[in-house]
Order: sequence, then C-alpha cells, then structure tokens
Amino acid sequence: MNKKTVKDYDFQGKTVLLRADLNVPIRNGEITDDTRIRASLETIQYLKEQGARIVLCSHLGRPKGEFNLKYSLEPVAKYFNEKTGIPVIFAHDVICENAQSKVCDLKPGEVLLLENLRFHKEEEKNDPEFAKKLASYADVYVNDAFGAAHRAHASTEGVTHYFKDNLMGFLMEKELNELSKLESPEKPFVAILGGAKVSDKIGVVKSLMNKADSIIIAGGMAYTFVKAMGGKIGHSLCEDDKLDLAKEILKEASEKGVKLLFPVDTIAAKEFSNESPSAVFLTSEIPDDYEGLDIGEKSCELFIEELSRAKTVFWNGPMGVFEFSNFAKGTNAIARGLAESGAYAIIGGGDSASAVSKLDCADRFYICTGGGASLEYLENGSLPAIEALNNRD
Ligand code: AMP
Repeated sequence: MNKKTVKDYDFQGKTVLLRADLNVPIRNGEITDDTRIRASLETIQYLKEQGARIVLCSHLGRPKGEFNLKYSLEPVAKYFNEKTGIPVIFAHDVICENAQSKVCDLKPGEVLLLENLRFHKEEEKNDPEFAKKLASYADVYVNDAFGAAHRAHASTEGVTHYFKDNLMGFLMEKELNELSKLESPEKPFVAILGGAKVSDKIGVVKSLMNKADSIIIAGGMAYTFVKAMGGKIGHSLCEDDKLDLAKEILKEASEKGVKLLFPVDTIAAKEFSNESPSAVFLTSEIPDDYEGLDIGEKSCELFIEELSRAKTVFWNGPMGVFEFSNFAKGTNAIARGLAESGAYAIIGGGDSASAVSKLDCADRFYICTGGGASLEYLENGSLPAIEALNNRD
C-alpha cells in the first residue's frame, strides 16, 4: 500500500488526532470482546513513545446521532486504565468545552479519549464544520480504524481535508497488507460466505467470481439461492426480491467456470430458538413448518473436502445461527477443518471472526477487525477512508 504511515512523521511535540476502532461489544457495562481494543494498542503505544499528545476517537454502536448511555465509551476508558497499561483521560463529549479544555491540558505522551463520535449526527453525515472542529484539536491525523474505513464519515474522511499530514496506523497497514494478498492469491482460492443477508454480499460474490476457484455459500443467505434453484426451503430466511439476482449469479458462475457450493443438508427447527427440537433435511426439501438454522454433517464434509485442497481462503459470515449453541456446530466444524487445511486463511471480521476467535485454533488464521470493510475492500479494491490518506511520494 503506497500510503504514508506513522513511521513517516516526527511526532515530537505534536498533537495527533487518532481515529481508532474501539467499537467493542459491551454488556452491563462490561466489555465482552476486547479484540479491537487490543488491536489498537500498538499504534497508541508508538505515538506515546514518540512524545505525541494523543486525542483518541472512535464510534461505538449505532446511537443514531444522540447521547445514549448504552453507547458511551466510558467503559472503554475504564478498560484502558485497568487492563492495558496505557492510561487515558476521558472527555465526556467530542467537541464541547469539556473536551476542548482537556485537549489544551494534554501533555506529551498523554492520551485523551473523546466520547462516542456518533453521539453527533454530523459524524455520519460527514459534516464539514464538525470535521473542522475535530481537526482543530491536532497537528496531524492518523487513521487506524480499518473497521470503519468503508465509511466516509467526518472522523474518517472529512477531517483529512483540514490536515496536511494524513497517515495510517500500524493496524490499518497490517489489515491492508493481509487483504492485498487476495489480489493475486495462491490457487486454489476458496471463498466462504455465510451470514444472514444476500443483499449485503451480492457485490462481493460478483467480484469474487473473477478471482476465486470456488465459492461456498452457506448460512441464512444460502436459502435464497436454493429457492432460486427450485428447492423447498420451509420458512428459512429468504430474500424473495433477490431471487432473480441469485439466478443471475448461478448463471454467471457456470459461464465463468467458478464452482459454487451450497449446503446439501440442513439442521432445521420449527422455531427460531436454541431449545427448539431440530431435525436434519436435504436443504432442498425442508418442510413448510421448519426453518434452516445450521448446516448438516454432510455439508461440513463437502466443504471441508473443498478446503483441504485450497491454498488461500477468505471467510465472512457464520454457517448458521452460531449464537445458539445447538446451531453452532457447522460454524465450528468449518473453522476446525479450515485450521487443519494448511491454507492461508483470512477471516473477514464480524460474526465469523467472533465465532472463530473463541476456538483454540484461532491463531491459525489472520482475523481481520472489519467485516463490512473487508467485504468492501474485496469488492472495490479500495476504501474511502484509505483513499483520503497521503500517498508516499
Ligand atoms: P451477517 O452479518 O450477514 O454476517 O450475518 C450474521 C448473522 O447471520 C448471525 O447473527 C447469524 O445468526 C445469522 N445466520 C446465520 N445463518 C442463519 C440462518 N440459517 N438463519 C438465520 N440467521 C442466520
């Protein structure tokens, strides 16, 4: 990636606006998965050692432009102070006086964490005035928020218009280096797409058809394809308005010689619940009163066999409703099969990353911090927030 990084700048005596992705799951005030915080530490530590004053900012969840305690970054500040060895000062706002005076009081090596950027509707609207105020805090901008890089928001794109130096942090650099390996992957290249929504992943399926040798389509999104092929899917997840698109993709894959694999069997239940009794059916013969919630054993065998031949794998989206322990077997089996395959594997963020990171084989994969961002990067070869950073001369 031909973009400037933190290594290209002398931070001594400077104030840096650091956009990180601290969007972590929080339940009852406790952080339940700290992966993104841990991933942000290397850049923060480096900037501290360089003597920068650090104004750290992030979004958390979707508070829709107004204050909502549930989405406060205060538990993240507490986490930094108690668990990371990097103390932070917390500002209870983003651009009001409280934040402004705390920025002025910062000393070299200190970190100030601003409150959730998305408490201001101007953030997602990429409002220039809001971006200008944020930018006024610092001399230089560093973006390390790969997980938000597919959004042109005030803190990811807007601010770059007010700085001379717009750089990437170590995490951003690492994520892009890993994902760029998929541009000319070692073959066979197998992609696994799961999760709930066909509409979210159509673009990436289309672009993967130019690169992948085979694409495994599973999880809730598979049923739209199975129905498009004439199968009976009970009341499984289905996007009826995408049936024609699914047919188009099936046709294009056969014209391009890309192998598409779908689950041959499905574990289905009468209700969407962990406790609902389940039964195994052929995926194309699910009774009307059942819905598919996981892939069956035969599908696992089929997919794992395909993965055993792969040299490169990209995976986004779980194989079933993995949040229910009784329907997580397919996702876990594929993770283990992939770990044993010896392929270079990238897990593209989101739910598949949280499913995989709980397993003892997690260190076998490169786990990307951004789900949506990794899909968009694969689809378009770039992301708006990365385009906005300075090129190396
Ligand atoms: P996505 O954000 O599109 O990757 O979707 C992830 C979600 O897909 C998870 O919350 C899963 O529970 C859900 N999911 C996966 N398989 C199914 C299925 N067969 N039926 C309903 N939801 C599913």
